Amino acid sequence: MGRRRRRVSKVVKKKLPTIFMCPACGEESVRVNLKGGSGKAIIQCGSCKIKDEFEASSSAGIVDVYCMFTDKYRSNAEANQ
Ligand SMILES: [Zn+2]
Repeated sequence: MGRRRRRVSKVVKKKLPTIFMCPACGEESVRVNLKGGSGKAIIQCGSCKIKDEFEASSSAGIVDVYCMFTDKYRSNAEANQ
């Protein structure tokens, strides 16, 4: 499976990436919202509107949630084939 990466021309000074590549549509428009305290994380693509919700421990970061999201998406995609 090929990985497409888009070069970002402007330098953004942020500690963590907040936008990720969508496994469904390939756009870099996936955002993760960590609901502090409730242990929930909501992830949504602004392009194709795919949305999911995960249990996230307080130590989990948005990258962890994104990994859960892509893992789940891939396993779902395989199950549907
Ligand atoms: Zn998408």
